[in-house]
Amino acid sequence: MHGTSTLEEADRLMTVCNSCRYCEGLCAVFPAMEMRRAFSDGDLNYFANLCHACGACYTDCQFSPPHEYNVNVPKTLAVARAESWAAYAWPRSLSGLFTNNGLVISIIAALSVAAFIFALAALNDRQAMVGIHTGPGAFYALMPHGAMAALFGAAFLYAIVALAMGVRAFWRDIGEPIGMLADPPSLWQAIKDAAELRYLDGGGVGCVNEDERPTDRRKIYHHLTFYGFLLCFAATCVATLYHYLLAREAPYPLWDLPVVLGTSGGIGLLIGPAGLLLEKSKRDPVLVDEKRTGMDVAFTLMLFLTSLTGIVLLLLRETSAMGPLLALHLGVVFSLFITMPYGKFVHGLYRFVALVRYARERRMTAGTV
Ligand code: SF4
Ligand code: SF4
Repeated sequence: MHGTSTLEEADRLMTVCNSCRYCEGLCAVFPAMEMRRAFSDGDLNYFANLCHACGACYTDCQFSPPHEYNVNVPKTLAVARAESWAAYAWPRSLSGLFTNNGLVISIIAALSVAAFIFALAALNDRQAMVGIHTGPGAFYALMPHGAMAALFGAAFLYAIVALAMGVRAFWRDIGEPIGMLADPPSLWQAIKDAAELRYLDGGGVGCVNEDERPTDRRKIYHHLTFYGFLLCFAATCVATLYHYLLAREAPYPLWDLPVVLGTSGGIGLLIGPAGLLLEKSKRDPVLVDEKRTGMDVAFTLMLFLTSLTGIVLLLLRETSAMGPLLALHLGVVFSLFITMPYGKFVHGLYRFVALVRYARERRMTAGTV
């Protein structure tokens, strides 16, 4: 007996697949499944988070509908995956945020933007809000650096703690001692697999869309999004070092490292999420967990808006639009931070951790551990 009907169905499918084994070359899920004869809840959640939702095993399956076995591994694992994220949420009382997630994130984003516009308008007189501010420290003429750092530092720290607690719950659920996460060869293998999205290629042919023709576009857009996000994060880190180590205040010239990194990442975060949304609209509906479409779209849109508001702020920072644009950008980034542990962002962390476990299992099977 499993904890949910989704896990019951996942167990049924994995039992069929374990007899069939036709898809064992497609991704990591099937080899991981073949290492077992029975599946605990934790095993099924591990498979669900190891799945990259490429769709190849549905297209290739001789038992997919209308066959009476009704095998649809991508969709069942997608539902199990989303349910596992809610179960691992910290604090548990907020796991409900994964329900109607698109609406929840939209409301939080709207409130956050409104709060920043209100706060900046209240802190400054009208002249300052729509005035022209240039040179180092221009942003801090509207919101003191200390207040900005304290607010965003607290939001970021909260997100890190909540995400770490979620990973801890996942790792416990799949039955591994926490120390195993510090296995350097497995960590390195997982970093390589995640960096190249090795299992999003349907066994080498590409990700499957509505016309059942595999393509690599989803992988390309995902790379643009992921590396765009990392570049923006690097820009923030460099800017922080500039501020505290070199006493150099933002905004920085266009040629300076934080702006170059942020602009490059921002372009990736415009094209990548837009492409992912386009590819999502073309996805075969039988592969999609339609109840979580709002969650996927909301997170992708938040990344897009973070980049869009940042780039528009960069372009118009020496005009009278800077004040309202700064409030808009800060509001979007703040809501992105505080909603990170309760939306699609978590997929990257849990998938990485599942890849670490898979790499370790492979090493144990090969006798190298
Ligand atoms: S998805 Fe279908 S073809 Fe693939 S292993 Fe399972 S039962 Fe076999
Ligand atoms: S959808 Fe792709 S990644 Fe997921 S189990 Fe099937 S083949 Fe593997």
